[in-house]
Amino acid sequence: MMPDSVKDEVKRQLVEALGERGLLWEKADLLPYCKDTYRVRFEDEYRYMPDFVVLPETTEEVKKVVSIAASRKIPLIPKGGGSNRTGMLVPTHGGIVVDTIRMNKLIEISVPDLCVTVQPGMTLKDLGDGLAEHGLWLTQEQGSLKMATVGGAISTSAFSRRHQKYGAMADCVMSLEVVLADGSVLRTGPKVLYTSTGYRLHQLFIGAEGTLGIITEATLRVEPLPEAQEVVLGFFDDFWAAIDAAKRVMASGVDFSGGEAYEIVDHSELRAPPDKKALFYALVHGTKEEVQAVSENLRRTIEGSGGILADHEVANQFLTTYTKQWCGARALTGYEDVLTTYVPMEKMRQYYDTLWNEIAPKYGIEPLPGEKYSLDVGKYRMAGGRYRLPKGDRVWERYQEVLKEIAALATGLGGSVQACHGVGIQHRDNMVLEYSDVALEAMRGIKHLLDPDNIMNPGKKIPEKE
Ligand SMILES: Cc1cc2nc3c(=O)[nH]c(=O)nc-3n(C[C@H](O)[C@H](O)[C@H](O)COP(=O)(O)OP(=O)(O)OC[C@H]3O[C@@H](n4cnc5c(N)ncnc54)[C@H](O)[C@@H]3O)c2cc1C
Repeated sequence: MMPDSVKDEVKRQLVEALGERGLLWEKADLLPYCKDTYRVRFEDEYRYMPDFVVLPETTEEVKKVVSIAASRKIPLIPKGGGSNRTGMLVPTHGGIVVDTIRMNKLIEISVPDLCVTVQPGMTLKDLGDGLAEHGLWLTQEQGSLKMATVGGAISTSAFSRRHQKYGAMADCVMSLEVVLADGSVLRTGPKVLYTSTGYRLHQLFIGAEGTLGIITEATLRVEPLPEAQEVVLGFFDDFWAAIDAAKRVMASGVDFSGGEAYEIVDHSELRAPPDKKALFYALVHGTKEEVQAVSENLRRTIEGSGGILADHEVANQFLTTYTKQWCGARALTGYEDVLTTYVPMEKMRQYYDTLWNEIAPKYGIEPLPGEKYSLDVGKYRMAGGRYRLPKGDRVWERYQEVLKEIAALATGLGGSVQACHGVGIQHRDNMVLEYSDVALEAMRGIKHLLDPDNIMNPGKKIPEKE
C-alpha cells in the first residue's frame, strides 16, 4: 500500500485526469476489487486491496492514468468482467485497478471485410447482439459470455465451444491498440487478418493477462450470421464409448463447429435410455444444405459407433439450455475446483486413470457427481471435470499439492495445465513444469522490454526467477 502522503498526491492527479466520477478510493468501493472468481486462501480473501480503481472511458484517459502510475512505479491491474478463474485480478501488490467497464463502445463495423473494432470493456454478449443487427456473428461463445469482455477474453486467450470450425479468441484478433507501461500507445499492426510484414505483435497480448499493457481497442474477425444451426446428440454406454465416437467424428474431417462428451446426470431431462451413461453432441453451423448434410453424416457416425441418437426435439432443446449443464459454466462453491487441461487425445484415458485412481485417493479429492470426465471435442480439445477437496487440516496446502500433481501429469503427457483459464496466481509456480528455463527467460525478457519496472499486473503469469 502507498504511504498516505503519496496517496493524496496520486488521488489529486487521478481526479485531474479523469474527474471524480472516474475514480474510486473509499474502502467500501474497493472491496469488490480484492478478488475475482478464484478462491484464494480463506484467510487471504480481503488481504490484498487496491489503492484506487479508475474507470476510464477513452484511450486518452488510460494513457493519462498509466503515465501517472509509471512516474511513481505504481502497479496497474487492467480489469474486464472479473470472471477469470485463476486470480489474475487479485491486487497482490496493491496499486490501481483500471476497470474498463465504461470502455464499452462499438467503434466500427465492416460488413464486407467481416471485421469489427471495439473498445475492450464491451461484453461478448453485447458485442454479439450489436453484430447481429448487421447480420454478423461473433463466433466466440464461452460459458461466461455475459460477463466476459473483449479485453478479458483476449487477455486470457479464451476458449469457445465452436472452436473446431471458428477457432478460439486468439484466432479472431486482427489488430490491437495497447497502452504500454510508459504511457505510449502501440498499434500492433494493420487491421488485417493476414499479413507477412512485421512481427505479429498482437499475438504477444493474447493471453498476456494484463502483464504487458492495457488493451484499449481491438479489431476482430467476425462471420456472417449462419443461416442454420443444429445439434446432433448421441447417448453412449459410457464416457469412453462417447470418446470413441468423438474421435471418429474428428478423424472423418466432417465440418462440425465443436462438441462435448460427458457423463449424463439427468436422464429424464434428456429422455436418455437409462443404460446409457454418457453423451456426445456436435454443433453444426452453416447454410441449410450444409447443416443438413453435415448433421446426417454425424448421425451416421454416432450410430455406427454404437450410440443411440436423441430425438430431434430433445437435441434442439438441449442446444438452447445446455449452457446450464456445461461444466465450465457452473459456479464453483466452497472447496471446489474445475479442471481445464489440454491432454493429447491418445493420452486421455491415462490422464483420467492417473487422476482418479492415483492422485485423488492420495489427497482425498472427489469428483462432483457427473463431473468425473468431460471433453471439449475438436482441435482445441480440453479435458474437464470438477472436484471437491475434503475439509479438514491443511486444505490449502493439499490444494496446492493437487494442483502441482495435476500440472505434472498433464505436462508429462505432452499437454498443458490450462487449456483456457490461464495462469494468474493459481498456476504461476507450476509454469516451470510446462516451460523450460530458456522459454521462461525469453518471456521475462519480453516482459522486461515492454514493462521494465514491472508495473503491469505484477505477480501474475510468469514465475519469479529462483
Ligand atoms: C461461469 C464461468 C464460465 C466460464 N467459461 C469460460 C469459457 O467457456 N471459456 C473460457 O475461455 N473461459 C471461461 N471462463 C473464464 C473467464 O470467463 C474467461 O477467462 C474470460 O475471458 C475472462 O474475461 P473477463 O472480461 O472477465 O476478464 P477479467 O477476469 O476481468 O480479466 C482477466 C485477465 O485479463 C486482463 N485484462 C482484462 N481486460 C484487459 C485489457 N483491456 N487489457 C489488458 N488486460 C486485460 C486482466 O488483467 C486479467 O489478467 C469462465 C468463467 C466462469 C466464471
